[in-house]
Amino acid sequence: MSEFNVKAIILLLFLSICAFSAHRFGFLDTSISIINSPGIQRIEAISNANTNTVLKYDEKIIVDCRLLKLSRYDFCGVSIKLGAPEIEQGLDLAGYDKLALTLHFKAPVVTAKIKVSFRNFNSNYAVAGDDVSLKFNSIIYNPNLHNATVVVPFNALQVDNWWASQYQVGLDNSQVDLSNISLFEVFTDNLTAPGEYQIAVHSAVLNGKLISEANLLKLIFVIWLSSAICLITLQRNKLKIIATTDLLTGLYNRRGISEWTNKFLSMNKPHSTLYIFYLDLDDFKKVNDTYGHLVGDELLIGFCTRIQRYLDTMPDKRFVFARLSGDEFTLITRGVEKAELTDFAENLLEVLTLPISLNEHKIMARASLGIALFEQGINTFEDLLARADSAMYYAKKEGKNQYKLFDESVSKDIFFRKQTAEKIKNALADNAFHLNFMPIFDSHSLAVVSVEVLLRTHAKSLEGIGPDIFIPIAEEYELIEKIDLWVIEATFKQITKERDFLAQNPLIFCINISAAELHNPLFASQLKALLYLYKIDPRSIEIELTETSLVEADQLSIDTLNEIRELGIKLALDDFGTGYTAFSQLINYPVDCLKIDKSFIDNLDSPDSTQATMIKAIIAIAKSYQLKTVAEGIEHRAQYHYLTEHGCNMMQGYLFAKPMIWKGLKNFLEDPDIFKSRLLLIDKTVGNKLPLKL
Ligand code: C2E
Ligand code: CA
Ligand code: CA
Repeated sequence: MSEFNVKAIILLLFLSICAFSAHRFGFLDTSISIINSPGIQRIEAISNANTNTVLKYDEKIIVDCRLLKLSRYDFCGVSIKLGAPEIEQGLDLAGYDKLALTLHFKAPVVTAKIKVSFRNFNSNYAVAGDDVSLKFNSIIYNPNLHNATVVVPFNALQVDNWWASQYQVGLDNSQVDLSNISLFEVFTDNLTAPGEYQIAVHSAVLNGKLISEANLLKLIFVIWLSSAICLITLQRNKLKIIATTDLLTGLYNRRGISEWTNKFLSMNKPHSTLYIFYLDLDDFKKVNDTYGHLVGDELLIGFCTRIQRYLDTMPDKRFVFARLSGDEFTLITRGVEKAELTDFAENLLEVLTLPISLNEHKIMARASLGIALFEQGINTFEDLLARADSAMYYAKKEGKNQYKLFDESVSKDIFFRKQTAEKIKNALADNAFHLNFMPIFDSHSLAVVSVEVLLRTHAKSLEGIGPDIFIPIAEEYELIEKIDLWVIEATFKQITKERDFLAQNPLIFCINISAAELHNPLFASQLKALLYLYKIDPRSIEIELTETSLVEADQLSIDTLNEIRELGIKLALDDFGTGYTAFSQLINYPVDCLKIDKSFIDNLDSPDSTQATMIKAIIAIAKSYQLKTVAEGIEHRAQYHYLTEHGCNMMQGYLFAKPMIWKGLKNFLEDPDIFKSRLLLIDKTVGNKLPLKL
C-alpha cells in the first residue's frame, strides 16, 4: 500500500470518529420553532358550525372556542401550513425526533384531550388541494392545565386509525411518515360539554439531529466505500502508469507505446499519416564501458531532452516518444508528411551532432534511424516496429548516424534472409555442409602451426552464398547453435580420423563460434562432452570469438569463457580492432590470442598511417598482456614484412594459402615443393631477411 493510501485511510478514520463523536455529543443537534417559523404559510382555526371561534396569533397562538351545543363532531383548534403554499409541498421533518410543546388548555371538563398531529402529503394516497386526505401522524394527550412543556418523542406518534380506514390504505403506507409535513395541527375533537374552550400554544419546538445516527452511519459507510473505490482506481491507474512508463526517462516504455499505437491504429486507420522511427544510439556500449552506467543513464536522459526539444519546435505536429529498451527508442509522428520526411529525419540527426554536456563529460549521442510508414497491411505496433527495425538495421550497416526508410530494398532483404534461413535449415537436415581448413603460419619459421576451420556448404540452393552471408542469417534465425556444434563435431571427427597424420604434423584447430554461444549456458558442457566422446586433446583446440561479440558481454559470457578455458582450450579474439574493447578491458577477458582484423592489414599500404599505428599499438598491448597475435588477410609481401618486423607472432592469408579441404591441406603440409616456393616467395621480397629455420 502506498504512503498516500495509508494517509488517506488515517484521515478518513479520523473524520469518521470526529463525525460520530460530534453526533454523540450533540454538536449536530438542531431545532426549529413551528409556530414562530418564518416558513409558515398560513394559520387557521379548526372549528365547526356549533362553535364560535376566535384565533389570535402573536408570539403564541390562542384559539378561543365557544361551543353552543353538542353535535356529533365538534372541533376546536389551530392548523398551521408548513412548507410551500401548495398542500402537496410540506417540510421534511424526518430528521427530528421530538417535539417540545408548551400548551395551555382550558376546557369545561377535565377529561378533554388534545390531539397534536402532523399531516403528511404522499402522492400515493393524498389528493392535491384536499387537506383532509393528508395522513395523520398524531399523538393524543391530556395536557396539564397549567403552562407546562411536554416533550413528545416522535416515535410516540401514531397514524390515526380514522385516516387509515377512511382512505383504505395498505399497511405499508399506514406507518408514521414525517417526510413531507404540510400541516401541523393542535386541536381537540372530543368536546363533551358545551362551554368555553381555549388552546394556547406557547411554543412548539422540534428537536433533532442534522442527521440521524443511522443516516450518519450510512453516510460514513458510503464515504468509505467511495473512497475505497477511488483509492483502488487511483492505485490501478498508478500501476498502469508504472507498467507503461520507462522509469529512467519518464517516457512510455515498450508496452506503453505498443498499447498507444494499437489503440490509435484501431481507431484512425484511414486518416492521418503516421511514421514510426526506430532510433538506436550508436556506440552506446562504449560509453557505458568507458564512463560507467551512471554516465550512460545521464546520456540517455540528455539524448531524450535533445530530441524532445527538437520536437517542441513543431507544435503543429503530434509526437509520441518512447524508450523500447537500453539505447533503443521509438518515435511516432503524426502530421509529418511524405514531402517533409527527409528534412525531418536529417534535422533529427543534425540535433545530435553536438556533444551532450553531462556533469564532467561531453559525449556524443548519435543515432541510427529506421523509418516505416503506416500503410495498408499493417495492423499492429509490432508489424510497424519490425519494419522500422529492419530499416534501422540497414542504416547501421550503411555506417551509422544515418536514416533509412523501409522500402522495397529492405523488404527484399528481409525476404532473402527469411528464404536463406529456410535453406540453411534444409542444408543442416541434409548434412550439406563440409569444412575447409586455412593454415596459419609462424611468422619466423613459416611453419604451419594451426589451421582455421571454415564452414562451407555444398547445398545447391545455397550456391554462391558464403559463410560471411549465411552465418549472420543463421544467427538472426537462431540456427547458429546447431551449426557451431556441427562444426565442432565435424572437426573432432576429422582429428580422430587423422590421428596418425596429426601425430607427425601437430596442428591446432581454430574453430569459430558465434557470439550467441556466450549466452548459451549449455555450450561449455556440450563442448566438454564432445571432447570426451572423441577423446580430443583440448590443447589442440582454439576457439575464435569475434571481438564484437564481447560488446554485449555480461557475467554469464565471462563465465562461459572461463569454463571453456578451464577445459584446457585456448581462446582467440577474432576481428580484433573492429569492436570497441578498451585496451584496459582486455584484462577482464580470459583470452590467449588476438587476431588483428583484415581491414587493418588491407589499409597498411594506404598513405594514411593510422592503421599502421593501430597495428603497432595492438601488438605492443598484446605483448604487455602476454597475448599472442595473429594477422589475418595477408595478401602482399609488404604486409608480411611489416608485421614480422613489428613482432606479430603468426600470419594467415592468401599470400601463403587459401582455405582448402582436408585432402588439400594434407598435400600442402606434406609437399616439400610447396614449402620451398613459399620460402622463395618471401625470399624475393625480404632478401637477407630469409627465414633461416624451418
Ligand atoms: P573469419 O572468422 O574472420 O574468417 C576469416 C575469413 O577471411 C575467411 O572467410 C577466410 O577465407 C578469409 N580470409 C583469410 N585470409 C584472407 C585473405 O588473405 N584474403 C581474403 N580475401 N580473405 C581472407 P570465410 O571462410 O568466407 O568466412 C567468413 C566468415 O564467416 C568468418 O570470418 C567467420 O566469421 C564466419 N565463419 C566461417 N566459418 C564459420 C564457422 O564454422 N562457424 C562460425 N560461427 N562462423 C564461421
Ligand atoms: Ca575466424
Ligand atoms: Ca577474422
